[in-house]
Amino acid sequence: MLAGAFALAVAVALPASPPRKVSSVLDPDPGGPSAARPAEALVAAPAYYRPVIVGGKAFPLTRSNFLSLIEILDDWHAPRLRFIGGKWQLVGVHEGIDILAERGTPIVSMEPGTVENLGWQFYSGTRVGVRGVDGRYYFYAHLSAVAPGIVIGARVSAGTLLGLVGNTGYGPPGHRDEFPPHLHFGLEVGTQWVDPYATLVSLYTSTTAADHRTQAGLDRLAEKGSRAAWDHAVESVLMNPGITPRE
Ligand SMILES: [Zn+2]
Repeated sequence: MLAGAFALAVAVALPASPPRKVSSVLDPDPGGPSAARPAEALVAAPAYYRPVIVGGKAFPLTRSNFLSLIEILDDWHAPRLRFIGGKWQLVGVHEGIDILAERGTPIVSMEPGTVENLGWQFYSGTRVGVRGVDGRYYFYAHLSAVAPGIVIGARVSAGTLLGLVGNTGYGPPGHRDEFPPHLHFGLEVGTQWVDPYATLVSLYTSTTAADHRTQAGLDRLAEKGSRAAWDHAVESVLMNPGITPRE
């Protein structure tokens, strides 16, 4: 199992695969242990790459498969228009950064902290708000699912699974499909939303580079033919996301 996971542990930007149905792994078991299970329930749970931590922080999305595409839009303070009274009116600006990713892409906590807000908001859809140990507020919106154990007051680490990318919002609870699936990421310092674009790009760059170094180290161990050393290195990488295995 470890070998399988790490054979795929490379981070490359490739064209997106077609949207896929997210398995029901995050949903409560609908039938209980004795219920007959439909064939669909036998589909494997969605795997995802381990989060890579650099400088105590994780990039908030992890790839869910080899073909995942993640695109960070530079849309801080883009105008937000609404059709009111027969004409388009500027009602505000976009106070966050949108990251395009396929539905079901895992969202992980960027910073260690405590879950402070959870649930539905009209525009944000299903959202999770985490108060970081650094005092900042980390806001994740439009989720298609919230991970088990994510409840108000829950402690999270950098890299803890919060939920899955979706396109919920702009309507009553459960409303979706008004826009393509993406993560809306907001960062509030004090009472001000701040532009997280540079932080996101920098974290993406550093975590991807760390992941490449890790994979290269594992590949060199594999070339040497020492299965035991490779197994040991994989184990340490899993326990300490972001480290480069010793050779
Ligand atoms: Zn947004």
